Amino acid sequence: MPQATAAAATTLAEAAASPTLLLLGRRADPAVERGVICPGAVPDPADPDLVERARAARAALGDAVFILGHHYQRDDVIAFADARGDSFKLARDAAASGAPHIVFCGVHFMAETADILTAPTTTVILPDLAAGCSMADMAEIAQVEAAWADLSDAGAGPGHTVPLTYMNSSAAIKAFTGRAGGAVCTSSNAERALRWAFDRGEQVLFLPDQHLGRNTAVRRLGLSLDDCVVYDPHQPGGGVEPARLRAAKVVLWKGHCSVHGTFVPAHVALVRAKVPGVKVLVHPEVRYEVVEAADLVGSTEFIINTVRAAPPGTAWAIGTELNLVGRLAQEHPEQTITYLNDKVCFCSTMNRIDLPHLVWALESLAAGRVVNPVRVDPDTAGWARVALDRMLALPGA
Ligand code: SF4
Repeated sequence: MPQATAAAATTLAEAAASPTLLLLGRRADPAVERGVICPGAVPDPADPDLVERARAARAALGDAVFILGHHYQRDDVIAFADARGDSFKLARDAAASGAPHIVFCGVHFMAETADILTAPTTTVILPDLAAGCSMADMAEIAQVEAAWADLSDAGAGPGHTVPLTYMNSSAAIKAFTGRAGGAVCTSSNAERALRWAFDRGEQVLFLPDQHLGRNTAVRRLGLSLDDCVVYDPHQPGGGVEPARLRAAKVVLWKGHCSVHGTFVPAHVALVRAKVPGVKVLVHPEVRYEVVEAADLVGSTEFIINTVRAAPPGTAWAIGTELNLVGRLAQEHPEQTITYLNDKVCFCSTMNRIDLPHLVWALESLAAGRVVNPVRVDPDTAGWARVALDRMLALPGA
């Protein structure tokens, strides 16, 4: 009907103009900087000279650049990393490098964190601004502020609830956490961070990964599954009765990693049937039921160190990002290493950082042009730093 068509057109026009809907490649969203086309000439992926071009640009830049590579990066990109690590180690490496330019081969929240932790004179570059994190994107600051209001209305919130946010969150959410008396955590210190939070409040709001929060609260702190509720930002009041919201020990944000979320208990059963004596080693971003079925659970660094320290001939089925598992298999031919999932599943956003984008970022820099800088505004950076510093002050951090 004409009226309905007109209404739909208006809605679409409004949606196209809204900062919350991003049409890929059409325009920039200044709030999130993602979904933009890279200005200038990104080399053709079929260019046979890409490796040579990256080497030449890297050599020309010398100490003017420090390249960081997350463990989940592709092999052809990680080959150029001056330091490898998980998000937290890389942020520390960035701060310690003293280089005027950091090229961060990782995803957007990591580049933001590096910008927060480095000196104002350091510029952090993300070779492709479309390299986001689906988990981080599941918690937007307006949603978190609304959840805080819901908690307050339910008799929780300030004075009762301490927010903890996983490193995999935007700078705005880290800043919210800092302002509200909370801290950042990683997959290796989530237990310490939860204990720290319970020394300061009755309840923890855990953002944005429900699985890391649940796995840590139940398996490490001994809480029950019933002590945890899941707050769904797309439901009124989070979809939880106010009394239940107030009574919960842990309020888990309804977010997850789209890569680690693909593992299910059937994968564990299948690999055990196929590989006698296999040990199942998973990251705590996987579902609770998968962790329960696995032999070992731990952070990315824990997974790497566990494989490294194992006796030759050990068989592993590893539940984490595929680039890392593939690299572990190459680096440890003395072990039998398989991927826990029977389907291939890379982190698609991590994979957006490819050799053409790296070459483009390095060659531009060598020519005096900084492309794709990631800058966090001073107020947000200051409060996010408060939350990061509380993490750094945790015992054993
Ligand atoms: S693997 Fe998951 S948590 Fe890590 S960057 Fe990719 S989507 Fe985000």
